[in-house]
Amino acid sequence: MINITTVNNKMPQQDPEVRICNFEESALGYDETTAVAEAMRCLKCRKKPCMELGCPVHNDIPGFIGKVAEGKFEEAYQILQKTTNLPAVCGRVCPQYEQCEGHCVRGTRGEPVAIGALERFVADWHRENVGTASSEPAQKKGKKVAVIGSGPAGITCAGDLAEKGHMVTIFEKEKVVGGVLEYGIPQFRLPKDIVAAEIKGLTDKGVTIKTGKSLGKDFSVDKLLTKEKFDAVFIGNGAGIPTTMNIPGEDKEGVILASDYLMRINVEHGYDPSSKDPLPKAKRIAVIGGGNVAMDACRSAVRTGAEKVYVIYRRSEAEMPADPSEVFEAREEGVEFMFLTNPVEVKGKDRITGLECIRMELGEPDASGRRRPVPVEGSEFTIKVDQCIMALGSNCDKELTDTMDGVDTDKWGAIIVNDKTQATSKKGVFAGGDTVTGAKTVIAAMDAGKKAAAAIDRYLR
Ligand SMILES: Cc1cc2nc3c(=O)[nH]c(=O)nc-3n(C[C@H](O)[C@H](O)[C@H](O)COP(=O)(O)OP(=O)(O)OC[C@H]3O[C@@H](n4cnc5c(N)ncnc54)[C@H](O)[C@@H]3O)c2cc1C
Repeated sequence: MINITTVNNKMPQQDPEVRICNFEESALGYDETTAVAEAMRCLKCRKKPCMELGCPVHNDIPGFIGKVAEGKFEEAYQILQKTTNLPAVCGRVCPQYEQCEGHCVRGTRGEPVAIGALERFVADWHRENVGTASSEPAQKKGKKVAVIGSGPAGITCAGDLAEKGHMVTIFEKEKVVGGVLEYGIPQFRLPKDIVAAEIKGLTDKGVTIKTGKSLGKDFSVDKLLTKEKFDAVFIGNGAGIPTTMNIPGEDKEGVILASDYLMRINVEHGYDPSSKDPLPKAKRIAVIGGGNVAMDACRSAVRTGAEKVYVIYRRSEAEMPADPSEVFEAREEGVEFMFLTNPVEVKGKDRITGLECIRMELGEPDASGRRRPVPVEGSEFTIKVDQCIMALGSNCDKELTDTMDGVDTDKWGAIIVNDKTQATSKKGVFAGGDTVTGAKTVIAAMDAGKKAAAAIDRYLR
C-alpha cells in the first residue's frame, strides 16, 4: 500500500563526500515505485495553477503526472512531448521552486509535488526504454530557414520548424552544439549524454547543423537572406558577454571569468587531471557572485580538488538569486559563503595571491527592489587565494547586435521583438531567448523558440 503524505519523496543523491571527488550527476533520479508514489500525491486541482501560472510553456502537468500514477510512463512522455522538446533538461535545471512547484497547491500545507523530478523520471524512462527512434523527417515544403545559435532557443525553434516540414540549418559559433546546456551548466547537474540525445533528436528530424560558423565574422543576416536564399532567419545567439569586477589587479594571472572556467571544465578538457593541458590547479579559490553560475563554478572548483572554496557575495543570503537547493548542496560540499562582502583589489605581483575585501551592510532598496549593499568604512580585510572566478552575470552581445542592419535593439544591445511572434523590425527575421530578454532561463528561451517557430511557419505560408 502506497502511503501518500504531505512530505514529498526526496530524490536520492550521491553522498557529498563521494560526489566532490567526481563530475558524475549528483542527483540519482527516481525509480519506478518512488515515481508512482510521488505522482499519487498530485491533488488533480481543477484550476491547475502549476500548469497555468507556473509553467512558461504550459506543460499539462496534472495530465502527465496522472499517467505516471497509473504506471503508464510512455503515455506520460507523449503528453510532455506536445509542449516541450527538452523534458530531460527542464526536469533537471528549471527553477521549479519558483515555477510549477511554487504554484503547487500541495505546497501550501506541506511540500509541493516534486514535478521536476517526475518530469526528469519520465524523460529518462523514455530514453532508456523506448529511445529516440529515428523518425522520417516530415515532407519538406521547400522553405529554407536559418537558425543562428544552438542553445535552447535555437534548438527548440529548429526542431519545431523541421517538424512542420521546413529545411532548417543551424549556424553555431562554437565547435559544440547546445549553447549553455553543453558548455555552461556542468556535467554533475546536466550530463552531456542527455544534451547529446536531444541534439540527435534534431538531426533525426532532418536539421542540418554547421558548427564553427559565427554571425558577424563568417556571415551576416543579410547575406543569409539574399546570397544564401534563406526565406527566414531566427537569431538565438544568447547573452554571453560577461561582466567583470572593474577593480585593481583583476587582470592578474589566476583571475578567470566563470564562463571561461566552466567552458574549460565542460568542453575543452572536461576535468581530466592527466590531460596535457589541464585546468590550472588551485588550492584556495574565491568565486565572486550569488547566482546559479557562481554555484556551478564553486561546486566545480570543489570537484577539481581545491582545499578551500569561498563564495563572496555583496548582499545577504536572502537576496541571493541562486536556486536555494544549489546553495544547500554547495554547503554540503564544503563551500564557505561570505555574505555582505565585496572584493576591492586583487593582490599579488603577476599572479593572484589574495583578495582584499570590504564588509558591506544593507541600505535602502535600489531600482531592483533589493536593499542596496553599502561598504562599511575601515572594514577591509584580505583572504589568501590563488584563483578567483568572476561570476557576476552576463550581457547581450551589443557589438554584434548593433551591426545587424534593420534589426532594432535597445540601449543594452537586446534585440527588440513583438512578444507574440518574436518578429524583429526586419522582415523575415525573428529572435528569441537571452539575446532578447538578457540572461534568463532555459524554459523562457524554449518558449521564445516555440513562439518564433509557429510565427515563422505562418510567415512562410
Ligand atoms: C553556468 C550557467 C548555469 C545556468 N543554469 C541554469 C539553470 O539551472 N536553469 C535555467 O533555467 N537556466 C540556467 N542558466 C541560464 C540558461 O542556460 C540560459 O538562459 C539559456 O541557455 C538561454 O538560451 P539561449 O538559447 O537564448 O542562449 P544560449 O544557451 O546562450 O545559446 C546561444 C548559442 O548561440 C551561439 N552564438 C553566440 N554568438 C554567436 C554568433 N555570433 N554566431 C553563431 N552562434 C552564436 C552560442 O555559442 C550558443 O550556442 C544558466 C546559465 C549559465 C551560464
